[in-house]
Amino acid sequence: MENNKVLIIEDETKLARFIELELKHEGYQVFVAYDGRNGYDMFYEVEPDIVLLDLMLPQLSGLEVCRRIRKNSKTPIIMLTAKSETMDKVVGLDNGADDYITKPFAIEELFARMRAALRRLKNKNEEDKILYLKNLTIDISKRVVKFDDTEIELTKREFELLVFLIQNKNIVVTRDQILNQVWGYDYIGETNVVDVYIRYLRTKIDDRFNVKFIHTIRGVGYFAKDDD
Ligand code: CA
Repeated sequence: MENNKVLIIEDETKLARFIELELKHEGYQVFVAYDGRNGYDMFYEVEPDIVLLDLMLPQLSGLEVCRRIRKNSKTPIIMLTAKSETMDKVVGLDNGADDYITKPFAIEELFARMRAALRRLKNKNEEDKILYLKNLTIDISKRVVKFDDTEIELTKREFELLVFLIQNKNIVVTRDQILNQVWGYDYIGETNVVDVYIRYLRTKIDDRFNVKFIHTIRGVGYFAKDDD
């Protein structure tokens, strides 16, 4: 968790200061805003890994800040709420907060919730790095391709071609698009290198497992088909 950036948006200066010192002690990089508008602006300046957001804030309410951040960010948000604000907690979660903690809280409890929220995001991001197409699973970070449980050995170029096709599944991609994306803009050579590699993939996947993943649109290009 070291060096994770935390943005605290809290108008009770004493509480904000207390959390700030405790988090710094834990190795976090800490930024503090004392009202909603400033906090929302700081969110884009600081690009924090996690936000601690008070509910009742001057300028812009915690709920509104939460809603605005959620429009285009997955950054975890933990709401800091007073005991009397039970209803608002629920509304906070409805508006995209990841968790809430009721004041007064033990700092260890806050640390635990922050760690959990950061871990959930990390797991989520790792899931995003896995692509699926019918029986195929492609783990991009580990560079592993499987048909059900059987691992398929691919060269680097074959792997990149397959990933590109699957990232664009059900969309026809032209030979030029494939060349640009998989071989790079400066590739000089025959465009039929694409056809050659498509054939390699078909041998290793379609033929071997008796399926039809890679479809040809004559004179246009190829696509990986998800559903029949
Ligand atoms: Ca407040």
